[in-house]
Amino acid sequence: MDIIDFHVHTGYDFHADEHGVLIDNRKFRSDLEACGVTKCCGSYLPKACNARPVADYEQYIPELNAKAYETKELYGDFYIPGLHIHPAFVEMSCREIEKYARLGVKMIGELVPYMMGWQGCATKEFLEIMDCAASYNMVVNIHLTSGADMRALCASIPKSITLVWAHFSAFGTFDEHTGLLREFENVYFDTSAHGSDRVGIIKDAVNAVGSEKLLFGTDYPGIGPASDIGAMMVEDISDADRENIFSRNAKRILGLK
Ligand SMILES: [Zn+2]
Repeated sequence: MDIIDFHVHTGYDFHADEHGVLIDNRKFRSDLEACGVTKCCGSYLPKACNARPVADYEQYIPELNAKAYETKELYGDFYIPGLHIHPAFVEMSCREIEKYARLGVKMIGELVPYMMGWQGCATKEFLEIMDCAASYNMVVNIHLTSGADMRALCASIPKSITLVWAHFSAFGTFDEHTGLLREFENVYFDTSAHGSDRVGIIKDAVNAVGSEKLLFGTDYPGIGPASDIGAMMVEDISDADRENIFSRNAKRILGLK
Protein backbone atom coordinates (compact mmCIF):
# COMPACT_ATOMS: atom_id res chain seq x y z
CA MET A 1 0.00 0.00 0.00
CA ASP A 2 1.29 3.45 -0.89
CA ILE A 3 1.41 6.00 1.89
CA ILE A 4 2.08 9.56 0.80
CA ASP A 5 2.90 11.86 3.68
CA PHE A 6 1.56 15.09 2.24
CA HIS A 7 2.94 17.29 5.01
CA VAL A 8 6.60 17.00 6.01
CA HIS A 9 9.40 19.55 6.35
CA THR A 10 12.89 18.94 5.08
CA GLY A 11 15.62 20.92 6.83
CA TYR A 12 13.56 20.90 10.03
CA ASP A 13 15.73 21.37 13.13
CA PHE A 14 13.34 23.02 15.59
CA HIS A 15 13.60 20.27 18.17
CA ALA A 16 17.29 19.46 17.83
CA ASP A 17 18.07 21.44 21.00
CA GLU A 18 15.30 19.74 23.00
CA HIS A 19 15.73 16.05 22.21
CA GLY A 20 19.16 16.16 20.63
CA VAL A 21 18.22 13.89 17.75
CA LEU A 22 19.80 15.08 14.56
CA ILE A 23 17.42 14.42 11.68
CA ASP A 24 19.81 14.42 8.76
CA ASN A 25 18.88 13.49 5.18
CA ARG A 26 19.53 9.81 5.82
CA LYS A 27 17.48 9.57 9.02
CA PHE A 28 14.68 11.69 7.56
CA ARG A 29 14.09 9.17 4.82
CA SER A 30 14.72 6.03 6.84
CA ASP A 31 12.32 7.12 9.64
CA LEU A 32 9.52 7.67 7.14
CA GLU A 33 10.25 4.49 5.20
CA ALA A 34 10.41 2.42 8.40
CA CYS A 35 6.79 3.48 9.00
CA GLY A 36 5.73 2.58 5.47
CA VAL A 37 5.76 6.03 3.89
CA THR A 38 6.47 5.70 0.17
CA LYS A 39 6.57 9.38 -0.76
CA CYS A 40 6.47 12.72 1.04
CA CYS A 41 5.75 16.35 0.20
CA GLY A 42 6.49 19.70 1.80
CA SER A 43 8.58 22.80 2.27
CA TYR A 44 12.10 23.22 3.59
CA LEU A 45 11.69 24.68 7.08
CA PRO A 46 14.71 25.20 9.35
CA LYS A 47 14.48 27.01 12.68
CA ALA A 48 16.38 29.92 11.12
CA CYS A 49 13.32 30.76 9.00
CA ASN A 50 11.24 31.65 12.04
CA ALA A 51 10.53 35.26 13.07
CA ARG A 52 13.16 37.09 11.08
CA PRO A 53 12.67 40.75 10.18
CA VAL A 54 10.24 40.70 7.22
CA ALA A 55 12.79 42.47 5.00
CA ASP A 56 15.04 39.38 5.26
CA TYR A 57 12.63 37.10 3.43
CA GLU A 58 13.14 38.64 0.02
CA GLN A 59 16.60 37.12 -0.02
CA TYR A 60 16.03 34.20 2.30
CA ILE A 61 13.06 32.55 0.57
CA PRO A 62 14.97 31.83 -2.65
CA GLU A 63 17.63 30.17 -0.44
CA LEU A 64 15.00 27.96 1.20
CA ASN A 65 13.56 27.00 -2.19
CA ALA A 66 17.01 26.17 -3.52
CA LYS A 67 17.54 23.89 -0.49
CA ALA A 68 14.22 22.15 -1.09
CA TYR A 69 15.09 21.55 -4.70
CA GLU A 70 18.56 20.29 -3.76
CA THR A 71 16.92 17.85 -1.36
CA LYS A 72 14.59 16.72 -4.12
CA GLU A 73 17.58 15.96 -6.33
CA LEU A 74 19.02 13.88 -3.50
CA TYR A 75 15.84 11.91 -2.80
CA GLY A 76 14.49 11.64 -6.34
CA ASP A 77 10.84 10.62 -6.50
CA PHE A 78 10.62 10.07 -2.75
CA TYR A 79 10.23 13.80 -2.04
CA ILE A 80 8.00 16.39 -3.69
CA PRO A 81 9.31 19.83 -2.75
CA GLY A 82 6.96 22.65 -1.77
CA LEU A 83 8.01 26.25 -2.42
CA HIS A 84 7.95 29.18 -0.06
CA ILE A 85 6.58 32.51 -1.22
CA HIS A 86 5.93 35.74 0.71
CA PRO A 87 3.15 38.30 0.12
CA ALA A 88 5.47 41.18 1.08
CA PHE A 89 7.48 40.30 -2.07
CA VAL A 90 5.11 39.62 -4.92
CA GLU A 91 7.68 39.94 -7.67
CA MET A 92 10.22 37.64 -6.01
CA SER A 93 7.46 35.12 -5.22
CA CYS A 94 6.23 34.99 -8.83
CA ARG A 95 9.80 34.69 -10.06
CA GLU A 96 10.35 31.71 -7.77
CA ILE A 97 7.13 30.04 -8.90
CA GLU A 98 8.03 30.48 -12.57
CA LYS A 99 11.59 29.28 -12.09
CA TYR A 100 10.64 26.10 -10.26
CA ALA A 101 7.52 25.36 -12.28
CA ARG A 102 9.83 25.12 -15.30
CA LEU A 103 11.82 22.54 -13.35
CA GLY A 104 8.70 20.50 -12.70
CA VAL A 105 7.78 21.68 -9.18
CA LYS A 106 4.03 21.45 -8.64
CA MET A 107 3.58 22.49 -5.07
CA ILE A 108 3.74 25.56 -2.82
CA GLY A 109 3.94 25.06 0.95
CA GLU A 110 3.31 24.23 3.59
CA LEU A 111 3.40 27.99 3.93
CA VAL A 112 3.66 29.07 7.55
CA PRO A 113 2.50 32.70 7.62
CA TYR A 114 2.82 33.16 11.40
CA MET A 115 6.52 32.26 11.28
CA MET A 116 7.33 34.62 8.48
CA GLY A 117 5.58 37.76 9.65
CA TRP A 118 2.26 37.75 7.83
CA GLN A 119 -1.21 36.95 9.12
CA GLY A 120 -4.02 36.65 6.60
CA CYS A 121 -3.91 35.17 3.11
CA ALA A 122 -6.98 36.82 1.63
CA THR A 123 -5.01 39.93 0.63
CA LYS A 124 -4.43 41.62 -2.70
CA GLU A 125 -0.74 40.71 -2.62
CA PHE A 126 -1.23 37.04 -1.78
CA LEU A 127 -3.91 36.73 -4.45
CA GLU A 128 -1.59 38.28 -7.02
CA ILE A 129 0.88 35.51 -6.24
CA MET A 130 -1.91 32.93 -6.46
CA ASP A 131 -2.80 34.24 -9.94
CA CYS A 132 0.73 33.45 -10.96
CA ALA A 133 0.56 30.01 -9.28
CA ALA A 134 -2.73 29.35 -11.06
CA SER A 135 -1.09 29.54 -14.46
CA TYR A 136 0.95 26.48 -13.40
CA ASN A 137 -1.98 24.69 -11.73
CA MET A 138 -0.08 24.58 -8.45
CA VAL A 139 -1.17 22.73 -5.34
CA VAL A 140 -0.92 25.13 -2.38
CA ASN A 141 -0.64 23.94 1.23
CA ILE A 142 -1.10 26.57 3.98
CA HIS A 143 -1.02 26.49 7.76
CA LEU A 144 -4.38 27.47 9.25
CA THR A 145 -5.13 31.17 9.53
CA SER A 146 -8.27 32.67 11.12
CA GLY A 147 -11.65 31.17 10.20
CA ALA A 148 -12.68 34.38 8.43
CA ASP A 149 -9.46 34.59 6.46
CA MET A 150 -9.63 30.92 5.44
CA ARG A 151 -13.17 31.33 4.18
CA ALA A 152 -12.29 34.53 2.31
CA LEU A 153 -9.30 32.87 0.62
CA CYS A 154 -11.33 29.78 -0.33
CA ALA A 155 -13.85 32.09 -1.99
CA SER A 156 -11.31 34.20 -3.87
CA ILE A 157 -8.43 31.89 -4.85
CA PRO A 158 -8.43 30.87 -8.54
CA LYS A 159 -10.30 27.62 -9.06
CA SER A 160 -7.43 26.08 -11.00
CA ILE A 161 -5.42 26.01 -7.76
CA THR A 162 -5.89 23.09 -5.42
CA LEU A 163 -5.86 24.65 -1.95
CA VAL A 164 -4.95 22.30 0.90
CA TRP A 165 -5.26 23.70 4.39
CA ALA A 166 -3.03 22.00 6.94
CA HIS A 167 -4.12 20.50 10.28
CA PHE A 168 -7.68 19.30 9.73
CA SER A 169 -9.81 19.87 12.80
CA ALA A 170 -6.73 20.15 14.96
CA PHE A 171 -7.99 23.05 17.05
CA GLY A 172 -11.59 22.02 17.63
CA THR A 173 -12.64 23.31 14.24
CA PHE A 174 -14.28 20.19 12.76
CA ASP A 175 -17.53 21.86 11.69
CA GLU A 176 -15.78 24.87 10.22
CA HIS A 177 -13.38 22.71 8.22
CA THR A 178 -15.93 20.22 6.93
CA GLY A 179 -18.05 23.25 5.94
CA LEU A 180 -15.21 24.56 3.74
CA LEU A 181 -14.67 21.11 2.23
CA ARG A 182 -18.34 20.86 1.36
CA GLU A 183 -18.63 24.34 -0.05
CA PHE A 184 -15.47 24.69 -2.17
CA GLU A 185 -14.66 22.07 -4.76
CA ASN A 186 -10.95 22.92 -5.02
CA VAL A 187 -10.38 22.96 -1.23
CA TYR A 188 -8.84 20.07 0.74
CA PHE A 189 -7.37 19.48 4.19
CA ASP A 190 -4.36 17.50 5.30
CA THR A 191 -4.56 15.55 8.55
CA SER A 192 -1.17 16.57 9.96
CA ALA A 193 -0.63 17.63 13.58
CA HIS A 194 -3.22 16.66 14.95
CA GLY A 195 -6.02 15.83 12.56
CA SER A 196 -6.20 12.13 13.38
CA ASP A 197 -5.52 12.18 17.13
CA ARG A 198 -9.07 11.68 18.38
CA VAL A 199 -10.40 8.18 17.82
CA GLY A 200 -13.25 8.31 15.34
CA ILE A 201 -12.50 11.73 13.92
CA ILE A 202 -11.53 10.45 10.47
CA LYS A 203 -14.63 8.30 10.37
CA ASP A 204 -16.72 11.36 11.28
CA ALA A 205 -15.01 13.34 8.54
CA VAL A 206 -15.59 10.62 5.94
CA ASN A 207 -19.25 10.46 6.97
CA ALA A 208 -19.54 14.23 6.73
CA VAL A 209 -17.73 14.93 3.45
CA GLY A 210 -16.46 11.65 1.98
CA SER A 211 -12.84 10.54 1.77
CA GLU A 212 -11.85 12.41 -1.41
CA LYS A 213 -10.99 15.72 0.27
CA LEU A 214 -8.58 14.57 2.98
CA LEU A 215 -4.86 13.99 2.55
CA PHE A 216 -2.78 12.04 5.01
CA GLY A 217 0.02 14.11 6.55
CA THR A 218 2.14 14.09 9.69
CA ASP A 219 4.29 17.28 9.98
CA TYR A 220 7.35 15.05 10.41
CA PRO A 221 9.88 15.68 11.93
CA GLY A 222 7.77 17.96 14.13
CA ILE A 223 5.58 14.90 14.74
CA GLY A 224 6.64 11.24 14.58
CA PRO A 225 4.94 9.41 11.68
CA ALA A 226 4.18 6.14 13.48
CA SER A 227 1.25 7.28 15.63
CA ASP A 228 -0.50 9.11 12.79
CA ILE A 229 -0.25 6.08 10.53
CA GLY A 230 -1.48 3.81 13.35
CA ALA A 231 -4.41 6.14 14.01
CA MET A 232 -5.41 6.02 10.36
CA MET A 233 -5.10 2.21 10.24
CA VAL A 234 -7.55 1.62 13.09
CA GLU A 235 -10.24 4.07 11.96
CA ASP A 236 -13.51 2.32 11.20
CA ILE A 237 -13.63 3.28 7.52
CA SER A 238 -13.49 1.17 4.37
CA ASP A 239 -10.14 0.22 2.87
CA ALA A 240 -11.07 2.22 -0.24
CA ASP A 241 -11.57 5.34 1.91
CA ARG A 242 -8.29 4.66 3.73
CA GLU A 243 -6.46 4.35 0.42
CA ASN A 244 -7.99 7.61 -0.80
CA ILE A 245 -6.67 9.43 2.26
CA PHE A 246 -3.30 7.66 2.36
CA SER A 247 -2.38 8.12 -1.28
CA ARG A 248 -5.03 8.26 -4.00
CA ASN A 249 -6.13 11.83 -3.38
CA ALA A 250 -2.54 13.08 -3.30
CA LYS A 251 -1.77 11.20 -6.51
CA ARG A 252 -4.79 12.75 -8.20
CA ILE A 253 -4.12 16.37 -7.24
CA LEU A 254 -0.37 16.13 -7.90
CA GLY A 255 -0.76 14.18 -11.12
CA LEU A 256 1.28 11.20 -9.85
CA LYS A 257 1.02 7.65 -11.11
ZN1 LIG B 1 4.01 21.99 8.99
